[in-house]
Amino acid sequence: MEWFAESKSDADPALSFGCTLCGNCCSGPPGYVLMTDDELAALAKRLGISTKCFIAEYTVMSEEGRSLKERPSERGLDCIFLDREKIPGKAVCGVYEDRPAQCRTWPFWPSVTKSRVTWDRAKRSCPGMDKGKPYTVQQIRILRDAVKI
Ligand code: SF4
Repeated sequence: MEWFAESKSDADPALSFGCTLCGNCCSGPPGYVLMTDDELAALAKRLGISTKCFIAEYTVMSEEGRSLKERPSERGLDCIFLDREKIPGKAVCGVYEDRPAQCRTWPFWPSVTKSRVTWDRAKRSCPGMDKGKPYTVQQIRILRDAVKI
């Protein structure tokens, strides 16, 4: 049984998360945001352009697969859709409703929820972890199993 589920039932709250809009997870050292074909098509539709155009303008091939592009900022490299203008002092996703599963499921990724150690390590750069909304064991498992990262 997973560490966050010990002594709990599926419906019990296990971990909490509430994004503070700091932008840390969407900037910093080089990274990648992978997407499925459907997610890519949804982003292209949102922007009113063809998928071919979207691929050329907003994506790049990374070692892991096709990823959203990044652009330099004072924090390192920002996701191309990170918006630091909309809310002063905050960083918001410019395509929030259509963001890929990789973004929607943070911080409940398999690599982060693997152990208390990996969770606490990720928490050093994500001030939203262990704060905000409680997630049940079942909700965490669903989010965790939605991505392979
Ligand atoms: S690092 Fe955490 S708190 Fe900051 S924007 Fe990302 S999810 Fe939100």
